[in-house]
Amino acid sequence: MPATPTGKVLIHAEECKGCGLCVDSCPPKCLFLAPELSAYGVHPALYTGRDCTGCGICFYCCPEPGAIVVYRRAAAARAAADRRQGGSHATAL
Ligand code: SF4
Ligand code: SF4
Repeated sequence: MPATPTGKVLIHAEECKGCGLCVDSCPPKCLFLAPELSAYGVHPALYTGRDCTGCGICFYCCPEPGAIVVYRRAAAARAAADRRQGGSHATAL
């Protein structure tokens, strides 16, 4: 049964070195390595667009700072409320 999609992950292909650690560590298996090569000649990680729980495991196992940003639904909702009130709090891990 797929995990509840309570998160969202953004992967910056230009920072990704294609090591695959995030792919192997993601519990619901919602990451994969792209079949195409990036400008750096590696297969960058991609998000399937489904089933991310926002657990953050991929973020913590990634050796490349800035390659992965994880958003959690609750944080995004808080940020939306902040934006409505003129605030600008970060929503990512
Ligand atoms: S935050 Fe968790 S569920 Fe989402 S892509 Fe990363 S490891 Fe997978
Ligand atoms: S762990 Fe980081 S560097 Fe390795 S494939 Fe995933 S995003 Fe790319």
